[in-house]
Amino acid sequence: MSIADRLIRPDLKDLPPVDLAGAPVPGTIRLDANENPYEPLAGGKTINRYPDPQPPALRARMADLYGVRAEQLLVTRGSDDAIDLLCRAFLVPGQDRIVTVEPTFSAYGQFARIQGAKVDAARLTDDFAFDEGAVLKVCRDGSAPKLLFLCTPNNPTGTPVDPAAVRRIAKALPDTLVVADEAYGEFSAAPSLAPEVADNLLVLRTLSKAYGLAGARIGCAIAAPDIIGWLMRVAPPYPLPTPSIEAAMKALAPERMPVHADRVRRLLDDRAMLARQLGEVDEVQAVHEGGNYLFLVVADPADLARRLAAAGVKLRFRPKAAVGGVRVSIGTPQENEALLAVFGVTSERRPGRRAAVTRDTGETAIVVEVDLDTPDAPRRIDTGVGFYDHMLDQIAGHGGFGLTLACTGDHHIDGHHSIEDVALALGEALDLALGDRKGIGRFGFALPMDETSAEVLIDLSGRPFAKFEGDFSDEKVGDFPTQMTPHVFRSLADSMRAAIHVKVVGDNDHHKVEACFKAFGRALRQGLATSGGTSVPSTKGML
Ligand code: PMP
Repeated sequence: MSIADRLIRPDLKDLPPVDLAGAPVPGTIRLDANENPYEPLAGGKTINRYPDPQPPALRARMADLYGVRAEQLLVTRGSDDAIDLLCRAFLVPGQDRIVTVEPTFSAYGQFARIQGAKVDAARLTDDFAFDEGAVLKVCRDGSAPKLLFLCTPNNPTGTPVDPAAVRRIAKALPDTLVVADEAYGEFSAAPSLAPEVADNLLVLRTLSKAYGLAGARIGCAIAAPDIIGWLMRVAPPYPLPTPSIEAAMKALAPERMPVHADRVRRLLDDRAMLARQLGEVDEVQAVHEGGNYLFLVVADPADLARRLAAAGVKLRFRPKAAVGGVRVSIGTPQENEALLAVFGVTSERRPGRRAAVTRDTGETAIVVEVDLDTPDAPRRIDTGVGFYDHMLDQIAGHGGFGLTLACTGDHHIDGHHSIEDVALALGEALDLALGDRKGIGRFGFALPMDETSAEVLIDLSGRPFAKFEGDFSDEKVGDFPTQMTPHVFRSLADSMRAAIHVKVVGDNDHHKVEACFKAFGRALRQGLATSGGTSVPSTKGML
């Protein structure tokens, strides 16, 4: 008998699967689900129809993301839902128990109690380290718990649990489902246990944290297929809202992944910076790092609460974890600066001008993120048109700003849509990052390169205008059509609301195209630069 069949609530064994209308078959008339046939009055063309209970494309994408097979993964309404399903499927009310390792995420105990089960707690050590022996002792003291929740890294203390310890515990407790909750796994250097799930070892993951989709409520349970089968059996009929499925598919599109990775890195950098700066504050007695948060122990929580309230900053006090315990989520640089100010500290990191734009059409899917105030910020560019990547790298490199840009497009037709749409999206991101344009240089010009001279005049005026003088004798440079050069500057001018004049003369088309992009980057650098002033550089007082 499999572990799942041994541990499942006996009264569920003959529960039939939920009686659902079948998944839609293209070309059939759908009169089987009492849906309203008319187009919804709420946008979203298909939300008058029930969603697929386990949308195969999302299930496959998440399985790929976590390195498992689709039948090992159940997409759930956030990982909260996965915890609830586990409790409902396996805990016999009034009889079974779970074990948690306190202080930890409260939902484990909450859902178990709602199910009528008992909650026993092991504890982290006094300085919040994981104590394998203590956990095994509580699990062995009495009947085997049906579920043991190990949160790694732990919310709220940040404590990691060594994957080897999780493996050992799962082996030592064959009658317990050992659940490694990796909600914050992307913020940890430890490898995920997801590819190892089998028998009584399970993993929970979520798109709420690293992928920024807390409002969409998408997470998953990863486990042996027969455990997944039981969870599916106790899940409600159509648990995943269509807009959430669509949001998850968009956010997990391959071209979005470098931006997610950048953001995780940035949150980790900011976490380290906050930990260092708060560690030097007298009233902060201890700082623990983990996930996208810090756990602090402060001397006078009531006083801190008053100051936070006055500053309009909300933190989570965790007095049960430790006297003076408080959990701090890592925010934007502006938010972190406001937090530090409550502790009387000036942030080491000035909030920068950043913006992200996504652009999805039938022809292209694009994500762009710019960081105007970090000249050494990484540049990662992948448009599918190699020479264009090189040109965009010239713009950002010479422009002195960080750029992450990825595009998947209809290259089977040609590069035209990708080249144009990327220019539009980049221009929009620059426009957004410039904000009210206060304090900028506004104007820029440049005159470089070998036998070629390119002149780019730029005015970040808020008024789009493009002028291009020059022609090319070759049809293409690499995989980039030369005639797209004026088109790119026109698209940039439109979407970043700038006047851009380009003039190029020379003999070699490769040089000429490259010189235009380089000169544009240099001109842009001058226009973007802030001089420390705070006024709009216009006698009109607005751009
Ligand atoms: N596990 C842990 C450790 C968490 O901190 C949270 C949310 N705070 C969750 C699971 C649930 O996350 P979600 O339901 O958004 O996936």
